Amino acid sequence: MLDRKRGTVRDLRRENRSALLWSLYFSQPLSRQELSDATGLSPASVSNVVRELLDESIVIEAGSVDSDGGRPRVLLEMNPEHGYVIGVDIGETRVRVELFDLAMTERAKADYRLNPRKHDVGVVVERILDGLNAVLADSGIEPAAILGVGVGVPGIVQQVPEVLVHGQTYGWDAVPLERLLRAGTDLPLQFENGAKTMGQAELWFGAGRGARNAVVALVGSGVGASLISGGSTYRGATSSAGEWGHTKIVLGGRTCRCGSAGCLEAYVGAEAILERYGRAIPGNDEESALAELIGEADTSPLAAAILDETAGYLGAGIANLINLFNPERIILGGWAGLMLGSRLLPTIRDAARDQSLRHPFTATSIELGRLGPEAVALGAATLPVERFLNCSPR
Ligand SMILES: [Zn+2]
Repeated sequence: MLDRKRGTVRDLRRENRSALLWSLYFSQPLSRQELSDATGLSPASVSNVVRELLDESIVIEAGSVDSDGGRPRVLLEMNPEHGYVIGVDIGETRVRVELFDLAMTERAKADYRLNPRKHDVGVVVERILDGLNAVLADSGIEPAAILGVGVGVPGIVQQVPEVLVHGQTYGWDAVPLERLLRAGTDLPLQFENGAKTMGQAELWFGAGRGARNAVVALVGSGVGASLISGGSTYRGATSSAGEWGHTKIVLGGRTCRCGSAGCLEAYVGAEAILERYGRAIPGNDEESALAELIGEADTSPLAAAILDETAGYLGAGIANLINLFNPERIILGGWAGLMLGSRLLPTIRDAARDQSLRHPFTATSIELGRLGPEAVALGAATLPVERFLNCSPR
């Protein structure tokens, strides 16, 4: 009985602390009064929690504002240097490792190119470990100050009994990524699908801010999506929800990297677009090759036709999302998505409108991601931030 009571008090304290941190993180700076209004906690509770957070240097004072006739109100904000987080993006064409402070200001980054056709697990693990060492060395930040490392992976993440990555189109079959990285680092690690980490980045800091029901569509070499339902990521029964790239748009169509046929990815993934264009990719550099194709569309009827057709397929894929999920916002991101969208967004919108039901279409806006192609690493870094704001033990 005594233990239970003690547990309850401790849980309540943790909940209050977490409510206050979440509120401050997204709306800082705030006064104690504003924190009380935002969290529904009593002024006395806010004062207690703030005193603790100030003592622990998690929160700092950030000037003051005059209040009507009374004493000036002290503003509070998170101490951006209380701790640091690292985001890792294992992409088709690169491994990126970025170190941020708690205000998500980038302090250091490392970037390694990968052969998009060969994703040797050993090479990728080595690049990640090199990247972790590089960002620590470049920023001069001690490993002890790192709250955690989030890793965005190109596949489905199984969390128990150990972390396994099922990256069917990436050539990874049940890769024990945490165990492999553990051999080279003691930093706390978290893993999530890359489309979902990018979705969380856009939701927290980008085009998704404030949205409750949204889809963040990621188009790179591969195609994925993050489904935001009621303000948080929808995962499904075994975390694979959002495999939009492998929904079918042509019965018996082009062969997909997943082994099936007619998948959206087999038409609008960068690799598929370049294959449909029928050009060799110099040095396996898909990013330059796609940029070249888009550049040639002004003079080459073939390039223009391929892009038009791609906009049509992408529009069909987006129409399916609109009809199935009734999102208020669809955000197109990923390096290829941003490249295509910067030229084709109006055409993609028209194609989506023509292929979706009128009522849900009018409730949806279709926008480009605002955070650039590096948003997967930023989103991965939000995983340890989320754990920190939840006051969860490591
Ligand atoms: Zn497929």
